[in-house]
Amino acid sequence: MKQKAENKVIIFDTTLRDGEQCPGASMGLREKLEVGRQLARLKVDIIEAGFPVASPGDFESVKMIAEQIKGPRIAGLARCIPRDIEVCHEAVAPAGKRGRIHVFLATSSIHRQYKLKKAKEEIIRQSVRAVKQARKLVEDVQFSPEDASRTEPDFLADVCKAVIDEGATTVNIPDTVGYATPDEFGALIAYLFDNVPELPKVTVHVHCHNDLGLAVANSLAAVKNGARGVECTINGIGERAGNCSLEEVVMAMRTRPDIYDEWTGVNTPELYRTSRLVSQLTGLVVQRNKAIVGANAFAHEAGIHQDGMLKERSTYEIMRPEDIGITGTELVLGKHSGRHAFSHNLQKLGFKLTQKELEEAYKIFIELSDKKKNVYDDDVVAIVQELMRDVPAVFTLDYLHVSAGTGTVPTATVRLKRLNESIQDAACGDGPVDAALKTIDRIAGVQGRLMDYSLQAITKDKDAMGEVSMRVEFNGGHMVSGKASSTDIVEASAKAYLNCVNRFMAEQKEKEQEETPHEKPRRRKVKARK
Ligand code: MN
Repeated sequence: MKQKAENKVIIFDTTLRDGEQCPGASMGLREKLEVGRQLARLKVDIIEAGFPVASPGDFESVKMIAEQIKGPRIAGLARCIPRDIEVCHEAVAPAGKRGRIHVFLATSSIHRQYKLKKAKEEIIRQSVRAVKQARKLVEDVQFSPEDASRTEPDFLADVCKAVIDEGATTVNIPDTVGYATPDEFGALIAYLFDNVPELPKVTVHVHCHNDLGLAVANSLAAVKNGARGVECTINGIGERAGNCSLEEVVMAMRTRPDIYDEWTGVNTPELYRTSRLVSQLTGLVVQRNKAIVGANAFAHEAGIHQDGMLKERSTYEIMRPEDIGITGTELVLGKHSGRHAFSHNLQKLGFKLTQKELEEAYKIFIELSDKKKNVYDDDVVAIVQELMRDVPAVFTLDYLHVSAGTGTVPTATVRLKRLNESIQDAACGDGPVDAALKTIDRIAGVQGRLMDYSLQAITKDKDAMGEVSMRVEFNGGHMVSGKASSTDIVEASAKAYLNCVNRFMAEQKEKEQEETPHEKPRRRKVKARK
Protein backbone atom coordinates (compact mmCIF):
# COMPACT_ATOMS: atom_id res chain seq x y z
CA MET A 1 0.00 0.00 0.00
CA LYS A 2 1.48 3.28 -1.10
CA GLN A 3 0.65 6.37 0.90
CA LYS A 4 0.78 9.47 -1.23
CA ALA A 5 1.85 12.67 0.46
CA GLU A 6 -1.07 14.62 -0.98
CA ASN A 7 -3.47 12.19 0.67
CA LYS A 8 -2.22 12.72 4.18
CA VAL A 9 -5.02 13.86 6.48
CA ILE A 10 -3.85 16.19 9.22
CA ILE A 11 -5.14 15.29 12.66
CA PHE A 12 -5.93 18.45 14.58
CA ASP A 13 -6.68 17.49 18.16
CA THR A 14 -8.88 19.88 20.10
CA THR A 15 -9.35 17.80 23.27
CA LEU A 16 -7.74 20.57 25.32
CA ARG A 17 -9.92 23.31 23.81
CA ASP A 18 -13.30 22.09 22.56
CA GLY A 19 -13.09 18.91 24.65
CA GLU A 20 -12.38 20.89 27.78
CA GLN A 21 -15.41 23.07 27.05
CA CYS A 22 -17.84 20.28 27.86
CA PRO A 23 -19.69 20.34 31.16
CA GLY A 24 -17.88 18.51 33.90
CA ALA A 25 -14.50 18.22 32.18
CA SER A 26 -12.17 20.51 33.96
CA MET A 27 -8.47 19.86 33.88
CA GLY A 28 -5.79 21.72 35.74
CA LEU A 29 -2.58 23.01 34.19
CA ARG A 30 -0.56 19.95 35.03
CA GLU A 31 -3.26 17.59 33.81
CA LYS A 32 -3.44 19.43 30.48
CA LEU A 33 0.31 19.16 30.16
CA GLU A 34 0.18 15.38 30.64
CA VAL A 35 -2.56 15.10 28.01
CA GLY A 36 -0.45 17.26 25.67
CA ARG A 37 2.53 15.00 26.20
CA GLN A 38 0.46 11.92 25.43
CA LEU A 39 -0.97 13.57 22.30
CA ALA A 40 2.60 14.11 21.11
CA ARG A 41 3.28 10.40 21.64
CA LEU A 42 0.13 9.63 19.69
CA LYS A 43 1.68 11.76 16.91
CA VAL A 44 -1.23 14.06 16.23
CA ASP A 45 -0.20 16.86 13.82
CA ILE A 46 -1.66 19.82 15.70
CA ILE A 47 -2.72 20.36 19.30
CA GLU A 48 -5.25 23.10 19.89
CA ALA A 49 -4.24 23.90 23.44
CA GLY A 50 -6.91 26.39 24.47
CA PHE A 51 -8.49 29.81 24.10
CA PRO A 52 -5.85 32.07 25.65
CA VAL A 53 -7.94 35.19 26.15
CA ALA A 54 -10.69 33.28 27.96
CA SER A 55 -8.97 33.31 31.35
CA PRO A 56 -5.50 33.62 32.90
CA GLY A 57 -5.62 29.85 33.48
CA ASP A 58 -6.23 29.19 29.77
CA PHE A 59 -3.44 31.58 28.82
CA GLU A 60 -0.97 29.85 31.14
CA SER A 61 -1.83 26.36 29.92
CA VAL A 62 -1.50 27.25 26.23
CA LYS A 63 1.82 28.93 26.93
CA MET A 64 3.07 26.01 29.00
CA ILE A 65 2.14 23.52 26.28
CA ALA A 66 3.79 25.70 23.64
CA GLU A 67 6.93 25.74 25.78
CA GLN A 68 7.11 22.10 26.72
CA ILE A 69 5.44 19.90 24.12
CA LYS A 70 7.70 19.06 21.21
CA GLY A 71 6.57 17.65 17.88
CA PRO A 72 3.05 18.78 16.99
CA ARG A 73 2.12 22.31 16.01
CA ILE A 74 0.48 24.23 18.84
CA ALA A 75 -2.62 26.27 18.08
CA GLY A 76 -4.49 28.79 20.18
CA LEU A 77 -8.00 30.05 19.48
CA ALA A 78 -8.91 33.72 19.11
CA ARG A 79 -11.95 35.72 18.09
CA CYS A 80 -11.45 38.25 15.30
CA ILE A 81 -10.63 40.90 17.89
CA PRO A 82 -7.18 42.57 18.08
CA ARG A 83 -6.72 41.92 21.80
CA ASP A 84 -7.63 38.21 21.41
CA ILE A 85 -5.08 37.81 18.64
CA GLU A 86 -2.33 39.57 20.61
CA VAL A 87 -2.90 37.44 23.69
CA CYS A 88 -3.10 34.28 21.58
CA HIS A 89 0.19 35.15 19.95
CA GLU A 90 1.90 35.61 23.30
CA ALA A 91 0.62 32.21 24.38
CA VAL A 92 1.73 30.25 21.29
CA ALA A 93 4.98 32.18 20.73
CA PRO A 94 7.15 29.73 22.75
CA ALA A 95 6.41 27.06 20.10
CA GLY A 96 8.30 29.23 17.57
CA LYS A 97 7.55 28.22 14.00
CA ARG A 98 5.18 25.53 15.25
CA GLY A 99 2.85 28.15 16.72
CA ARG A 100 -0.51 28.75 15.05
CA ILE A 101 -3.16 31.40 15.56
CA HIS A 102 -6.67 30.14 14.87
CA VAL A 103 -9.19 32.94 14.37
CA PHE A 104 -12.90 32.43 13.98
CA LEU A 105 -15.98 34.47 13.15
CA ALA A 106 -19.56 33.33 12.59
CA THR A 107 -20.80 33.63 9.00
CA SER A 108 -24.29 32.07 8.93
CA SER A 109 -27.29 34.36 8.48
CA ILE A 110 -28.75 33.24 11.79
CA HIS A 111 -25.56 34.22 13.65
CA ARG A 112 -25.12 37.41 11.66
CA GLN A 113 -28.66 38.51 12.40
CA TYR A 114 -29.06 37.50 16.02
CA LYS A 115 -25.62 37.18 17.54
CA LEU A 116 -23.38 39.61 15.72
CA LYS A 117 -25.92 42.01 14.19
CA LYS A 118 -23.56 42.53 11.27
CA ALA A 119 -23.98 42.58 7.51
CA LYS A 120 -22.06 40.29 5.16
CA GLU A 121 -19.57 42.99 4.13
CA GLU A 122 -18.76 43.74 7.75
CA ILE A 123 -18.12 40.02 8.43
CA ILE A 124 -15.65 39.86 5.55
CA ARG A 125 -13.94 43.08 6.61
CA GLN A 126 -13.51 41.87 10.18
CA SER A 127 -12.23 38.43 9.08
CA VAL A 128 -9.71 39.90 6.70
CA ARG A 129 -8.48 42.40 9.31
CA ALA A 130 -7.97 39.59 11.83
CA VAL A 131 -6.10 37.33 9.40
CA LYS A 132 -3.91 40.26 8.39
CA GLN A 133 -3.05 41.04 12.01
CA ALA A 134 -2.35 37.37 12.80
CA ARG A 135 -0.18 36.93 9.69
CA LYS A 136 2.06 39.76 10.87
CA LEU A 137 2.68 37.79 14.06
CA VAL A 138 2.98 34.19 12.81
CA GLU A 139 3.25 32.36 9.49
CA ASP A 140 0.65 29.77 10.34
CA VAL A 141 -2.85 31.22 10.47
CA GLN A 142 -6.09 29.30 10.46
CA PHE A 143 -9.49 30.83 9.81
CA SER A 144 -12.84 29.27 10.75
CA PRO A 145 -16.17 30.61 9.53
CA GLU A 146 -18.26 29.50 12.50
CA ASP A 147 -21.52 27.74 11.64
CA ALA A 148 -20.24 27.26 8.06
CA SER A 149 -22.64 24.42 7.36
CA ARG A 150 -25.59 26.79 7.82
CA THR A 151 -23.99 29.63 5.86
CA GLU A 152 -25.13 30.47 2.31
CA PRO A 153 -22.58 28.53 0.18
CA ASP A 154 -21.84 31.47 -2.14
CA PHE A 155 -21.14 33.77 0.80
CA LEU A 156 -19.01 31.06 2.45
CA ALA A 157 -16.97 30.88 -0.78
CA ASP A 158 -16.52 34.68 -0.71
CA VAL A 159 -15.26 34.53 2.88
CA CYS A 160 -12.82 31.72 2.07
CA LYS A 161 -11.46 33.63 -0.91
CA ALA A 162 -11.00 36.79 1.10
CA VAL A 163 -9.10 35.17 3.98
CA ILE A 164 -6.88 33.13 1.65
CA ASP A 165 -5.98 36.32 -0.26
CA GLU A 166 -4.99 37.84 3.06
CA GLY A 167 -2.64 34.95 3.87
CA ALA A 168 -4.62 32.35 5.85
CA THR A 169 -2.80 29.03 5.49
CA THR A 170 -5.59 26.77 6.72
CA VAL A 171 -9.33 27.21 6.23
CA ASN A 172 -11.53 25.18 8.53
CA ILE A 173 -15.17 24.44 7.69
CA PRO A 174 -17.06 23.79 10.94
CA ASP A 175 -20.40 22.12 11.38
CA THR A 176 -20.67 23.99 14.66
CA VAL A 177 -24.12 22.78 15.69
CA GLY A 178 -23.88 19.25 14.30
CA TYR A 179 -26.66 19.88 11.78
CA ALA A 180 -25.11 18.58 8.56
CA THR A 181 -25.56 15.13 7.03
CA PRO A 182 -22.76 13.26 5.23
CA ASP A 183 -23.92 13.70 1.61
CA GLU A 184 -24.73 17.34 2.17
CA PHE A 185 -21.49 18.12 4.00
CA GLY A 186 -19.35 16.30 1.42
CA ALA A 187 -21.14 18.29 -1.30
CA LEU A 188 -20.41 21.55 0.52
CA ILE A 189 -16.67 20.80 0.52
CA ALA A 190 -16.86 19.87 -3.19
CA TYR A 191 -18.73 23.12 -3.88
CA LEU A 192 -16.02 25.16 -2.18
CA PHE A 193 -13.28 23.45 -4.21
CA ASP A 194 -15.27 24.16 -7.39
CA ASN A 195 -15.96 27.78 -6.54
CA VAL A 196 -12.83 28.96 -4.74
CA PRO A 197 -9.92 28.56 -7.18
CA GLU A 198 -7.47 29.53 -4.41
CA LEU A 199 -8.60 26.70 -2.11
CA PRO A 200 -6.03 24.07 -3.20
CA LYS A 201 -3.28 26.49 -2.09
CA VAL A 202 -4.28 26.06 1.55
CA THR A 203 -5.19 23.15 3.81
CA VAL A 204 -8.90 22.59 4.24
CA HIS A 205 -10.00 21.29 7.63
CA VAL A 206 -13.39 20.25 8.92
CA HIS A 207 -14.68 20.49 12.48
CA CYS A 208 -17.80 18.41 13.03
CA HIS A 209 -20.03 18.12 16.06
CA ASN A 210 -21.95 15.04 17.00
CA ASP A 211 -25.45 16.31 17.79
CA LEU A 212 -26.97 13.82 15.34
CA GLY A 213 -24.27 11.21 15.86
CA LEU A 214 -22.84 12.07 12.43
CA ALA A 215 -19.57 13.83 13.27
CA VAL A 216 -17.31 11.00 12.12
CA ALA A 217 -19.42 10.25 9.03
CA ASN A 218 -19.47 13.94 8.08
CA SER A 219 -15.70 14.24 8.54
CA LEU A 220 -15.08 11.20 6.34
CA ALA A 221 -17.42 12.57 3.67
CA ALA A 222 -15.42 15.80 3.73
CA VAL A 223 -12.15 13.89 3.37
CA LYS A 224 -13.55 12.07 0.34
CA ASN A 225 -14.26 15.50 -1.17
CA GLY A 226 -10.83 16.99 -0.62
CA ALA A 227 -10.57 18.08 3.00
CA ARG A 228 -7.11 17.22 4.33
CA GLY A 229 -7.51 18.03 8.00
CA VAL A 230 -9.91 16.64 10.58
CA GLU A 231 -10.52 18.38 13.88
CA CYS A 232 -11.37 15.89 16.55
CA THR A 233 -11.07 14.98 20.22
CA ILE A 234 -10.11 11.91 22.22
CA ASN A 235 -13.22 9.90 23.12
CA GLY A 236 -15.22 12.44 21.10
CA ILE A 237 -15.63 14.73 24.12
CA GLY A 238 -16.68 18.33 23.57
CA GLU A 239 -19.55 20.78 23.69
CA ARG A 240 -23.00 19.17 23.96
CA ALA A 241 -22.90 15.76 22.22
CA GLY A 242 -19.21 16.23 21.55
CA ASN A 243 -16.86 16.42 18.59
CA CYS A 244 -15.71 13.98 15.95
CA SER A 245 -13.96 11.17 17.78
CA LEU A 246 -10.26 10.98 16.92
CA GLU A 247 -9.92 7.23 17.43
CA GLU A 248 -12.95 6.46 15.25
CA VAL A 249 -12.03 8.65 12.31
CA VAL A 250 -8.40 7.47 12.36
CA MET A 251 -9.28 3.77 12.60
CA ALA A 252 -11.94 4.04 9.89
CA MET A 253 -9.34 5.24 7.39
CA ARG A 254 -6.79 2.73 8.61
CA THR A 255 -9.14 -0.28 8.58
CA ARG A 256 -10.58 0.50 5.14
CA PRO A 257 -7.66 1.38 2.85
CA ASP A 258 -9.74 -0.15 0.06
CA ILE A 259 -12.15 2.78 0.46
CA TYR A 260 -9.79 5.53 1.65
CA ASP A 261 -6.55 6.41 -0.12
CA GLU A 262 -6.28 9.03 2.59
CA TRP A 263 -4.19 8.24 5.64
CA THR A 264 -3.06 9.81 8.93
CA GLY A 265 0.26 9.82 10.77
CA VAL A 266 -1.31 8.75 14.08
CA ASN A 267 0.59 6.15 16.08
CA THR A 268 -2.47 3.97 16.69
CA PRO A 269 -1.03 1.68 19.39
CA GLU A 270 -1.14 4.76 21.66
CA LEU A 271 -4.89 5.23 21.15
CA TYR A 272 -6.14 3.13 24.03
CA ARG A 273 -3.74 4.64 26.54
CA THR A 274 -4.66 8.14 25.42
CA SER A 275 -8.34 7.37 25.77
CA ARG A 276 -7.86 6.05 29.33
CA LEU A 277 -5.75 9.03 30.33
CA VAL A 278 -8.26 11.59 29.04
CA SER A 279 -11.14 9.71 30.61
CA GLN A 280 -9.45 9.65 33.99
CA LEU A 281 -8.17 13.21 33.98
CA THR A 282 -11.47 14.71 32.84
CA GLY A 283 -13.64 12.36 34.89
CA LEU A 284 -15.73 11.68 31.75
CA VAL A 285 -16.43 7.98 31.62
CA VAL A 286 -16.21 6.20 28.25
CA GLN A 287 -19.39 4.24 27.55
CA ARG A 288 -18.80 0.47 27.47
CA ASN A 289 -19.99 0.03 23.91
CA LYS A 290 -18.08 3.03 22.51
CA ALA A 291 -16.44 2.21 19.17
CA ILE A 292 -12.69 1.46 19.27
CA VAL A 293 -11.95 2.27 22.92
CA GLY A 294 -15.01 1.11 24.90
CA ALA A 295 -14.56 -1.80 27.32
CA ASN A 296 -16.72 -4.04 25.12
CA ALA A 297 -15.24 -2.99 21.77
CA PHE A 298 -13.21 -6.18 21.48
CA ALA A 299 -15.27 -8.47 23.73
CA HIS A 300 -16.93 -11.34 21.92
CA GLU A 301 -19.83 -12.64 23.93
CA ALA A 302 -21.99 -14.84 21.73
CA GLY A 303 -21.00 -18.50 21.57
CA ILE A 304 -21.07 -18.62 17.77
CA HIS A 305 -18.77 -15.60 17.63
CA GLN A 306 -16.38 -17.07 20.18
CA ASP A 307 -16.25 -20.30 18.23
CA GLY A 308 -15.50 -18.41 15.02
CA MET A 309 -12.84 -16.31 16.75
CA LEU A 310 -11.03 -19.40 17.98
CA LYS A 311 -10.97 -20.86 14.48
CA GLU A 312 -9.98 -17.65 12.71
CA ARG A 313 -9.92 -14.18 14.25
CA SER A 314 -10.93 -12.36 11.11
CA THR A 315 -14.32 -14.12 11.14
CA TYR A 316 -15.60 -11.53 13.60
CA GLU A 317 -12.73 -9.13 14.13
CA ILE A 318 -12.09 -6.27 11.70
CA MET A 319 -9.30 -4.69 13.76
CA ARG A 320 -6.74 -6.25 16.02
CA PRO A 321 -6.84 -5.00 19.63
CA GLU A 322 -3.06 -4.59 19.58
CA ASP A 323 -3.42 -2.04 16.75
CA ILE A 324 -4.94 0.38 19.24
CA GLY A 325 -2.70 -0.69 22.10
CA ILE A 326 -4.77 -3.27 23.95
CA THR A 327 -2.24 -5.97 24.63
CA GLY A 328 -4.26 -8.12 26.99
CA THR A 329 -1.25 -8.52 29.21
CA GLU A 330 -1.39 -5.63 31.59
CA LEU A 331 1.57 -5.40 33.89
CA VAL A 332 0.16 -5.69 37.38
CA LEU A 333 1.99 -4.22 40.32
CA GLY A 334 1.68 -5.47 43.89
CA LYS A 335 3.03 -5.12 47.38
CA HIS A 336 6.38 -6.55 46.39
CA SER A 337 6.98 -4.37 43.37
CA GLY A 338 9.95 -2.18 44.00
CA ARG A 339 10.55 1.47 43.29
CA HIS A 340 12.16 0.56 39.99
CA ALA A 341 9.17 -1.42 38.68
CA PHE A 342 6.88 1.38 39.79
CA SER A 343 8.82 4.14 38.10
CA HIS A 344 9.16 2.00 34.96
CA ASN A 345 5.39 1.68 34.94
CA LEU A 346 4.96 5.44 35.22
CA GLN A 347 7.28 5.93 32.29
CA LYS A 348 5.39 3.39 30.25
CA LEU A 349 2.18 5.28 30.97
CA GLY A 350 3.87 8.43 29.71
CA PHE A 351 4.15 10.41 32.92
CA LYS A 352 7.05 12.68 33.64
CA LEU A 353 7.52 13.22 37.36
CA THR A 354 10.17 15.02 39.34
CA GLN A 355 12.18 12.98 41.84
CA LYS A 356 10.14 14.45 44.68
CA GLU A 357 6.84 13.61 43.02
CA LEU A 358 8.08 10.12 42.27
CA GLU A 359 8.86 9.54 45.94
CA GLU A 360 5.45 10.86 46.93
CA ALA A 361 3.70 8.68 44.34
CA TYR A 362 5.62 5.62 45.48
CA LYS A 363 4.56 6.25 49.06
CA ILE A 364 0.90 6.37 48.05
CA PHE A 365 1.40 3.25 45.93
CA ILE A 366 2.81 1.30 48.90
CA GLU A 367 -0.10 2.39 51.08
CA LEU A 368 -2.51 1.34 48.36
CA SER A 369 -0.93 -2.04 47.77
CA ASP A 370 -1.44 -2.74 51.46
CA LYS A 371 -5.15 -2.28 50.93
CA LYS A 372 -5.59 -4.03 47.61
CA LYS A 373 -3.92 -7.05 46.10
CA ASN A 374 -3.35 -5.94 42.52
CA VAL A 375 -2.48 -2.44 41.42
CA TYR A 376 -3.41 -1.89 37.78
CA ASP A 377 -2.38 0.79 35.30
CA ASP A 378 -5.55 2.75 35.95
CA ASP A 379 -4.80 2.77 39.70
CA VAL A 380 -1.38 4.20 38.95
CA VAL A 381 -2.96 6.93 36.82
CA ALA A 382 -5.29 7.73 39.74
CA ILE A 383 -2.32 8.03 42.11
CA VAL A 384 -0.47 10.39 39.81
CA GLN A 385 -3.63 12.35 39.20
CA GLU A 386 -3.81 13.27 42.88
CA LEU A 387 -0.28 14.63 42.70
CA MET A 388 -0.94 16.66 39.59
CA ARG A 389 -3.68 18.72 41.12
CA ASP A 390 -2.33 22.23 40.96
CA VAL A 391 -4.95 23.85 43.16
CA PRO A 392 -3.36 24.95 46.44
CA ALA A 393 -4.72 22.76 49.21
CA VAL A 394 -6.10 25.24 51.72
CA PHE A 395 -7.71 22.37 53.61
CA THR A 396 -6.49 18.79 53.78
CA LEU A 397 -8.24 15.80 55.27
CA ASP A 398 -6.59 14.70 58.48
CA TYR A 399 -9.13 12.37 60.05
CA LEU A 400 -12.50 10.98 59.03
CA HIS A 401 -14.81 8.73 60.95
CA VAL A 402 -18.37 7.91 59.97
CA SER A 403 -20.94 5.74 61.60
CA ALA A 404 -23.82 4.53 59.52
CA GLY A 405 -26.03 1.52 59.19
CA THR A 406 -29.60 0.35 59.59
CA GLY A 407 -31.15 2.00 62.63
CA THR A 408 -28.38 4.51 63.36
CA VAL A 409 -28.28 8.21 62.59
CA PRO A 410 -25.47 8.67 60.07
CA THR A 411 -22.84 10.82 61.75
CA ALA A 412 -19.44 12.03 60.64
CA THR A 413 -16.50 13.33 62.59
CA VAL A 414 -14.02 15.22 60.44
CA ARG A 415 -10.70 16.84 61.23
CA LEU A 416 -9.23 19.16 58.62
CA LYS A 417 -5.83 20.76 58.52
CA ARG A 418 -5.31 24.34 57.49
CA LEU A 419 -1.60 25.12 57.56
CA ASN A 420 -0.60 24.04 61.07
CA GLU A 421 -4.05 24.39 62.51
CA SER A 422 -6.34 21.39 63.10
CA ILE A 423 -10.07 21.98 63.09
CA GLN A 424 -12.54 19.33 64.14
CA ASP A 425 -16.31 19.08 63.97
CA ALA A 426 -19.14 16.58 63.66
CA ALA A 427 -22.53 16.53 61.97
CA CYS A 428 -25.38 14.21 61.08
CA GLY A 429 -26.80 13.66 57.62
CA ASP A 430 -29.00 11.52 55.40
CA GLY A 431 -26.17 9.08 54.94
CA PRO A 432 -22.43 8.85 55.64
CA VAL A 433 -21.45 10.90 52.56
CA ASP A 434 -23.98 13.62 53.32
CA ALA A 435 -22.82 13.75 56.94
CA ALA A 436 -19.16 14.04 55.92
CA LEU A 437 -19.84 16.82 53.41
CA LYS A 438 -21.99 18.75 55.86
CA THR A 439 -19.20 18.62 58.43
CA ILE A 440 -16.72 19.93 55.87
CA ASP A 441 -19.11 22.81 55.09
CA ARG A 442 -19.24 23.71 58.79
CA ILE A 443 -15.48 23.71 59.18
CA ALA A 444 -14.69 25.56 55.95
CA GLY A 445 -17.53 28.05 56.36
CA VAL A 446 -18.99 27.46 52.92
CA GLN A 447 -22.37 26.45 51.56
CA GLY A 448 -21.95 23.80 48.91
CA ARG A 449 -24.73 22.21 46.93
CA LEU A 450 -24.01 18.89 45.23
CA MET A 451 -25.18 19.22 41.61
CA ASP A 452 -23.74 16.03 40.23
CA TYR A 453 -22.16 13.00 41.84
CA SER A 454 -20.80 9.88 40.20
CA LEU A 455 -18.94 6.91 41.55
CA GLN A 456 -16.95 4.64 39.31
CA ALA A 457 -14.85 1.58 40.10
CA ILE A 458 -11.41 2.27 38.63
CA THR A 459 -10.56 -1.36 38.04
CA LYS A 460 -12.03 -4.81 38.65
CA ASP A 461 -12.22 -6.84 41.91
CA LYS A 462 -14.10 -6.11 45.14
CA ASP A 463 -11.13 -4.24 46.59
CA ALA A 464 -11.04 -1.81 43.64
CA MET A 465 -10.60 1.90 44.26
CA GLY A 466 -13.70 3.98 43.77
CA GLU A 467 -13.34 7.26 41.92
CA VAL A 468 -15.77 9.98 42.87
CA SER A 469 -16.41 12.89 40.50
CA MET A 470 -18.66 15.72 41.53
CA ARG A 471 -19.85 19.16 40.62
CA VAL A 472 -20.64 21.53 43.42
CA GLU A 473 -22.29 24.92 43.44
CA PHE A 474 -20.94 27.22 46.13
CA ASN A 475 -22.65 30.15 47.76
CA GLY A 476 -25.43 30.09 45.20
CA GLY A 477 -23.86 30.30 41.78
CA HIS A 478 -20.17 29.43 41.57
CA MET A 479 -19.75 25.97 39.99
CA VAL A 480 -16.62 23.86 40.41
CA SER A 481 -15.80 20.22 39.85
CA GLY A 482 -13.47 17.86 41.63
CA LYS A 483 -12.56 14.23 41.87
CA ALA A 484 -10.69 11.85 44.14
CA SER A 485 -10.23 8.14 44.59
CA SER A 486 -9.80 5.74 47.46
CA THR A 487 -10.59 2.14 48.35
CA ASP A 488 -13.08 3.71 50.80
CA ILE A 489 -15.86 5.47 48.91
CA VAL A 490 -16.84 7.76 51.79
CA GLU A 491 -13.24 8.94 52.03
CA ALA A 492 -13.11 9.39 48.24
CA SER A 493 -16.27 11.50 48.46
CA ALA A 494 -14.89 13.66 51.28
CA LYS A 495 -11.62 14.19 49.39
CA ALA A 496 -13.39 15.04 46.13
CA TYR A 497 -15.54 17.53 48.02
CA LEU A 498 -12.47 19.06 49.66
CA ASN A 499 -10.95 19.42 46.20
CA CYS A 500 -14.01 21.39 45.20
CA VAL A 501 -13.78 23.56 48.33
CA ASN A 502 -10.08 24.24 47.67
CA ARG A 503 -10.71 25.02 44.02
CA PHE A 504 -13.55 27.36 44.94
CA MET A 505 -11.29 29.22 47.38
CA ALA A 506 -8.47 29.47 44.84
CA GLU A 507 -10.85 30.84 42.22
CA GLN A 508 -12.26 33.38 44.66
CA LYS A 509 -8.73 34.54 45.38
CA GLU A 510 -7.89 34.72 41.68
CA LYS A 511 -11.00 36.80 41.11
CA GLU A 512 -9.99 39.27 43.80
CA GLN A 513 -6.54 39.60 42.26
CA GLU A 514 -7.99 40.09 38.81
CA GLU A 515 -9.97 43.03 40.05
CA THR A 516 -6.77 44.78 41.05
CA PRO A 517 -4.81 45.77 37.89
CA HIS A 518 -1.77 43.58 38.30
CA GLU A 519 -2.04 41.38 35.29
CA LYS A 520 -1.01 43.63 32.48
CA PRO A 521 2.62 44.15 33.48
CA ARG A 522 3.06 40.39 33.79
CA ARG A 523 1.89 39.87 30.22
CA ARG A 524 4.16 42.61 28.96
CA LYS A 525 7.08 40.91 30.59
CA VAL A 526 6.32 37.77 28.64
CA LYS A 527 6.35 39.74 25.44
CA ALA A 528 9.60 41.53 26.21
CA ARG A 529 11.41 38.27 26.78
CA LYS A 530 10.61 37.00 23.30
MN1 MN B 1 -16.53 23.12 18.29
